Amino acid sequence: MGRGVALGLVLGWLLSGGGPVLAEPPTRQALHARQEISVPEGDVQAWIAAFRPRALEAGISQATLDAALSGVALRPDVVEKDRNQTEFTRTIWDYLDKAVSDDRVAAGQKALKKHGALLRRIEAKYDVDRQILLAIWGLESSYGVVRGDVPTVAALVTLASSTRRGAYFERELLAALRILQEGDVAPAAMQGSWAGAMGHTQFMPSSYLSLAVDFDGDGRRDIWSEDPTDALASTAAFLARWGWRKGEPWGVEITLPEGFDYRLAGEKIHHSAAEWQAMGVARTTGGALPDCGPASVLLPGGARGAAFLICPNFHVIEHYNPADAYVIAVGHLGDRILGGGPILGQWPRDLRALTLDERIALQHRLTLAGFDAGGADGRIGPLTQSAIRGFQTSIGVVPDGYASLDVLNRLP
Ligand code: CA
Repeated sequence: MGRGVALGLVLGWLLSGGGPVLAEPPTRQALHARQEISVPEGDVQAWIAAFRPRALEAGISQATLDAALSGVALRPDVVEKDRNQTEFTRTIWDYLDKAVSDDRVAAGQKALKKHGALLRRIEAKYDVDRQILLAIWGLESSYGVVRGDVPTVAALVTLASSTRRGAYFERELLAALRILQEGDVAPAAMQGSWAGAMGHTQFMPSSYLSLAVDFDGDGRRDIWSEDPTDALASTAAFLARWGWRKGEPWGVEITLPEGFDYRLAGEKIHHSAAEWQAMGVARTTGGALPDCGPASVLLPGGARGAAFLICPNFHVIEHYNPADAYVIAVGHLGDRILGGGPILGQWPRDLRALTLDERIALQHRLTLAGFDAGGADGRIGPLTQSAIRGFQTSIGVVPDGYASLDVLNRLP
């Protein structure tokens, strides 16, 4: 959760999975967090009182605690957003329309001009391509315009005390307090999204502690203020940490051959560019497929939607947020900023996204029908997609693994 929240680009569950940088994957419990929203303010103060000794134990000083926690109260807006974020789902085409709009591409090109020298220096140091940094910046905060103004400590106190993912948010709260203790930012300036992600590229506090850098050398790792220098370099450090391969694409749009075996699609099946080419897979814009090592065919909108060959860098971006739609948006926005064209494949725009209840029902029915959907958490991941493929194969329809209403309706 938290990805793109400030931009109104919430993909709901689809994007809620990864959470802000390095967040935990969603849990079944998270789905039920929405059922316990009425947390009386008194309970939050009691929670803070009980938390203080744990924080002291973890090495946070009394002075830091007093400065950071005085006056902190429950944020009903945060509770409400946490409750609602699992409810909404957007189709990938609706998401991409907004995430990679012409305006966002143009603003990215402007930012490339304005910050070109800085981006070259960051690229030289971290071996991370500039367009990906711009794209993440563009998606996370509209290039710094919308960095979020929710006090991070209050947001994390609210989430730690009122949701079943409390343990995760308490760890992030401790990380936030540690940042304050180290003096990188004043308590009042530590702001971000409702879910605790901060600054230009929406780092969670724990990611900040482990990976943020002071690139301008002023002695502070400042991802919050107007100047994006440290935030962009920190994002580069993050992607480098997860193995970014400079000069390689995240993926490319492809055209599948007539009679393609859809069981070969999916992130778990890898082949080299030469092998895919031999199977008739072609780059939509022409030319050779990128030679990026183990690559997979991805059909994020099912057999009727655009198809992509995804490279190892795709999985690096997944560490920022694992939703396919987010990763494709980042990669594609980066390509567009460099002058690349739009996605040429069509999307099945007549289909609507499944609701949370429908996704859970789909997983239940797949499991009952003997296809292991990996539980019924409402999150359509690789296991559920594989179960859908199995079911589709068993009834003789194209096994594209897409969680459509049609599949749900056909399940007994
Ligand atoms: Ca700095």
